[in-house]
Amino acid sequence: MAELLNIRVKTLTPLWTGGIDGACDRLHVSGIIGSLRWWYEAIIRGLGGDACDPAGYDKCKFDLKEFQKDKNKGENEQDALERAGLCDACKIFGATGWSRRLRVKIDEHQIMPAWNGPTLNIRPPDRSRGWFLNPGHWGTFTLILHGEKTILEQLADLILFLEQWGALGAKNQLGYGVFRLENRKEIEQYAGRWRWFVTGNKPAGECPDLRRFGFFNLRFKTENDHWWTYIPALERLLGEKNTARALKQTEERGMIPLAPVLKNTWRFHDWQGPFSIAQWLFGASRGEEDRVRSKVNVSWAYRNGEEWEMRGWVWLPPKDGNGQVIASQHLQKLWECFCNENIWSNVLKINSPELVFRPAERRWRGKTPEEVRGFLEESICSSS
Ligand SMILES: [Zn+2]
Repeated sequence: MAELLNIRVKTLTPLWTGGIDGACDRLHVSGIIGSLRWWYEAIIRGLGGDACDPAGYDKCKFDLKEFQKDKNKGENEQDALERAGLCDACKIFGATGWSRRLRVKIDEHQIMPAWNGPTLNIRPPDRSRGWFLNPGHWGTFTLILHGEKTILEQLADLILFLEQWGALGAKNQLGYGVFRLENRKEIEQYAGRWRWFVTGNKPAGECPDLRRFGFFNLRFKTENDHWWTYIPALERLLGEKNTARALKQTEERGMIPLAPVLKNTWRFHDWQGPFSIAQWLFGASRGEEDRVRSKVNVSWAYRNGEEWEMRGWVWLPPKDGNGQVIASQHLQKLWECFCNENIWSNVLKINSPELVFRPAERRWRGKTPEEVRGFLEESICSSS
């Protein structure tokens, strides 16, 4: 029987759900569902199971006749779907011939542009072009999910995980989509009935896979409210009236667009490996940003009570875009950058931040499905 689950979301950094002009547009449901599917797939693969790449050649092909035949024989629906060619992600999120098992609506009670005014060009002094940030959305809204109980339980669990370590919508690589749940208790009750299981031991491949993800979270206190105005890339924007006003507005809303500043340091100061692998991991710029999506995702700085917080994740796949194995020392060096408090302190000009990373080891390695399961359970328990 279908049920309803309301998820009340407060944005901590701007939310980007697609459309040409994120500022003037509404929230797009498809952008939210797309990100839920992306994470769901990464989890399923991380647990050793099967999730196709819906944009790839190997995407699931649903055999309706086979499905109906099995159903008529009185087979369990989940088994029949699997035999008809659907992976776990397609079963919920749909495939050609099999519609999505989930209806999603958005109630935008309090959503507005994250700032009024111009695109912000965050350009550290050593860059000629820098990064371009558009406003996106800010405020609170409700996601109304309608579907079978077991599906809602999994999504409740997924949302709790994303609140802790992930994000919603697009442009996560530029720090968009971090959020807080306003009705967490309700969602926890729902999620409490769901358990993730290791479903196989397929090796990690070309698609996002939680076994190859690393997560980090930085908290810090500052002596005054102006700390961020001394960071050169932002100082420059404060010298111009329109961009200064936009930045003040984001500050009042408890968020400072610092993602590019960290990415600049990791990529152009700390990275020692080949240029082609940097492009694969950090994304191709100069109008090609969408061609190779950055695997390094870091949020803006946002307020969390008395403190500030920044967080993010990296996906360090075993191979590059040409199918060549990436030498482990490059991935190791990169992981050390994210885990290095001193880099964060120097870039942000702050003192004694508290840095947490998962897996909690400075040596980079892929995880096992069992470790992924443990991490999911730990994350969801500690969010309460
Ligand atoms: Zn599939």
